[in-house]
Amino acid sequence: MPRLFGTSGIRGVANREVDPLLAMKVGLGLARLVGSSGRVVVGRDTRTSGGMLESALLSGLLSGGCTAVRVGTVPTPVLAFATRRWRAKAGVMITASHNPPEYNGLKCWDGEGAAFTPEREQELEGEMGRGGGVEWRRVGRTEERDPVGEYLRWVLDRFPLRGGHRVAVDCGNGAASRVTPFLLREGGCTVLSLNGFPSGGFPGRGPEPSPASLSDLSALVVSGGAELGFAHDGDADRIAVVDDRGRFVQPDRLLALVASHLVGRGERVVTTVDASRVVEEWVERKGGKVVRTKVGDVSVARALREGGGKFGGEPSGAWIFPEAHLAPDGPLAAVMVLRMLEEEGRRLSELLEEVPSYPLLREKLPCSPAEGEEKMERLRRGYARLRGVTGAEEVDGLRISFEEGSWVLVRPSGTEPCLRLTCEAREEGEARRRMKEVLSLIV
Ligand code: MG
Repeated sequence: MPRLFGTSGIRGVANREVDPLLAMKVGLGLARLVGSSGRVVVGRDTRTSGGMLESALLSGLLSGGCTAVRVGTVPTPVLAFATRRWRAKAGVMITASHNPPEYNGLKCWDGEGAAFTPEREQELEGEMGRGGGVEWRRVGRTEERDPVGEYLRWVLDRFPLRGGHRVAVDCGNGAASRVTPFLLREGGCTVLSLNGFPSGGFPGRGPEPSPASLSDLSALVVSGGAELGFAHDGDADRIAVVDDRGRFVQPDRLLALVASHLVGRGERVVTTVDASRVVEEWVERKGGKVVRTKVGDVSVARALREGGGKFGGEPSGAWIFPEAHLAPDGPLAAVMVLRMLEEEGRRLSELLEEVPSYPLLREKLPCSPAEGEEKMERLRRGYARLRGVTGAEEVDGLRISFEEGSWVLVRPSGTEPCLRLTCEAREEGEARRRMKEVLSLIV
């Protein structure tokens, strides 16, 4: 049986095939896994295929005897919040995150509001292969419930804002449309909203925030006189930020800034192998310690759950605040950035001026999983021949270090059929040279 889930826990995003029969089997398998009398919360992002997949998933859950609690279009962190808050046995989010509109998939959550680990996914896959549903008398039913109001109060009770901010928000027509502008208004901010209506084709700027796709947000921050701008991906577990001068903020530097703001002496911050070393530099200045994991919010959440920590984040903009919950949370991240500005009493551009910017190149090399494996093997055999290699580690893919302090990471993507390459150096030319050298071994 093929693996049903990518490492990100999202099924189906790798091949664009949105298969309702599979969604039905996931529903039935999940009912078997959590017990037929359990409640399962089901939400989705704004994708056009979301309703179709939801219907199939519900069929499976109901035929397995579960009560399915439908929450409609919500951000992934709100689905995770509701699953834990309402003491459900599990949650399922129908989303393909930042991927193009034609993709879709399923991401499962446990009763603690944490994403399924690969081991739990494997258990679910095992259950999916086994038999049919419950007898007719015990077939499940659906309930409808809206968690958004509860979520807004929960965030602002725990992490209140002084308010008075003027901010621009680009929801990209995704699931954040129902939450972030309202959350910030409730928190006393004036919100300039962009692409704030839900639409499955993501007509505004696509589901993935990038410097190019956020040019309208940058312009709005400047013309609207906003303090900064926030953007999310399709399911709003990620955040991207534009500073008060309308400039896209390099995610690693923002991660370093927020991590160092939150961390105390002797406390831990968790980030992934592909993040800039500026995270260590900034966190260690405050006496904190950085732990690195495999790429993917599931690995970050697991490290936080097992070893504790003040904050966990990936350069993708998926940030976890364990004091709140173990789900990466874009709307909460927006609140936390504003709280940082309030506590520091300075503008974002001023705070960022002090954070060094190391050239960081990220590229992707499209290839099938088999080709990718073959390229990784070639790299493992050949990297030692490159000049100035000082070591390599395999926390995730292969991360090669060089004597001048540069490093190159090559790893198979968990969400797309490609290899991802990341290279950091002290200066741009060096980064390009190192990237080229490593590419020459595998292309
Ligand atoms: Mg996402």
